[in-house]
Amino acid sequence: MRMTVIGTGYLGAVHAACMADLGHDVLGVDVDEAKLAALAAGRTPFYEPGLPEILARTVASGNLRFSTSLEEAADFGEVHFLCVGTPQQPGSAAADMRPIDSVIEGLAPHLRDDCLVVGKSTVPVGTSDRLAARIAELAPVGARAEVAWNPEFLSESTAVEDTLRPDRIVVGVTSHRAEAVLGAVYSTMRESGTPYLVTDRTTAELVKVSANAFLATKVSFVNAMAEVCEATGGDVTTLAKAIGYDPRIGHRFLAAGVGFGGGCLPKDIRAFSARADELGFGDSLRFLRDVDEINMRARQRTVDRARTMLDGRFLGRRVAVLGAAFKSGSDDVRDSPALAVAASIQLQGAHVRVHDPEALDNARAAFPCLDYAREPEKACEGADLVLHLTDWAEYRDLNPAELAGVVDVPRLLDARNTLDLEHWRTHGWDVGALGRGNLA
Ligand code: NAD
Repeated sequence: MRMTVIGTGYLGAVHAACMADLGHDVLGVDVDEAKLAALAAGRTPFYEPGLPEILARTVASGNLRFSTSLEEAADFGEVHFLCVGTPQQPGSAAADMRPIDSVIEGLAPHLRDDCLVVGKSTVPVGTSDRLAARIAELAPVGARAEVAWNPEFLSESTAVEDTLRPDRIVVGVTSHRAEAVLGAVYSTMRESGTPYLVTDRTTAELVKVSANAFLATKVSFVNAMAEVCEATGGDVTTLAKAIGYDPRIGHRFLAAGVGFGGGCLPKDIRAFSARADELGFGDSLRFLRDVDEINMRARQRTVDRARTMLDGRFLGRRVAVLGAAFKSGSDDVRDSPALAVAASIQLQGAHVRVHDPEALDNARAAFPCLDYAREPEKACEGADLVLHLTDWAEYRDLNPAELAGVVDVPRLLDARNTLDLEHWRTHGWDVGALGRGNLA
């Protein structure tokens, strides 16, 4: 099938390469010429495990090509996947729909007969109806161009696997024809038994934002329990382990720490609330404001705990930060809790040096005021406090005995709750964590 993928960022580049690998003929489209040049040369413009191999294979086979032209895209594709960004609007909680709207304005006047425009970006409920109406106005007379919604659930760091072997596929359609086209696009996954849900467009849009609202709520729930544990002397890591054994609760997304960040969860819960306000059902989602507040408070609690461990004073102290990406396995620093904490500590007078195995270049571009090191040991040199903020596996393998010889004072705050603190303690480290009142 001939398809375009419009927007070749974290979502679109993976989707385009995976679709090409399944045998489809794919044209990736973006406004960012440098990104397209890298992709066309088989180089991934960001870190995503497994993507370089698939990209190299599909570019070499000719199944995957790139262009900046929406006119070329309209002429080429039977199916057009919309994968452009929907970031938070400046000065508002709502989603910025300008990238999607500008794609529709450029694409619709050239659309071929019988094509299908499929939204994958995360959008406010009602977007697909609005885009369908706009396409009907702009498309050439007689061109039957339909809109479907097919939300994306991939996670950065496992994006390739999530795309090729998803937990489920949801397609929101208004006709049997659209249903059949998407059924053909995803035939491989359907044949291998992936749950495949066909629904209306509104439900499809809502599935995505409600899934993200649920995940955000789960993280903030356990961070609220971390606050309770700090106040009462309990241990949130044991609490989470214990409640997670109940299969109705589960262990995933139940790790207390510095909270969630990235280009999706924070902006998606805010956009969902903003849309609810707009449509007059804001009260139904009022709890999402608490979820957001608990999450932002986790960053503040991390800063406060770090200050306490430094006897109330950041000024002139040296703080090593382990991790800059919003999560391990990714170089994405959008709304990264690690960098928010690092910048706040630096602003209060500390000298902060950050390490990350993959995200240093992005971090330096976003926060040029911070100091950076290419090795964790370098970041820790002369430190008064080591702050663990992104859960990279390599940090679990650090040697506390060796590191104790590098820092000025062996003091560690584990804001991800994934290090073996007893082990660090036995090597002379003063350790702290979030939500572990029993450690204080
Ligand atoms: P991104 O910023 O990495 O990529 C967006 C891409 O769109 C960029 O390459 C940008 O240059 C391009 N773009 C912007 N305006 C354009 C235009 N007018 N024409 C063509 N290209 C344009 O963002 P992302 O993380 O890939 O997210 C894209 C969408 O997917 C968002 O709605 C996001 O919420 C959703 N999503 C993301 C993930 C994820 O893990 N990143 C997962 C599921 C859903």
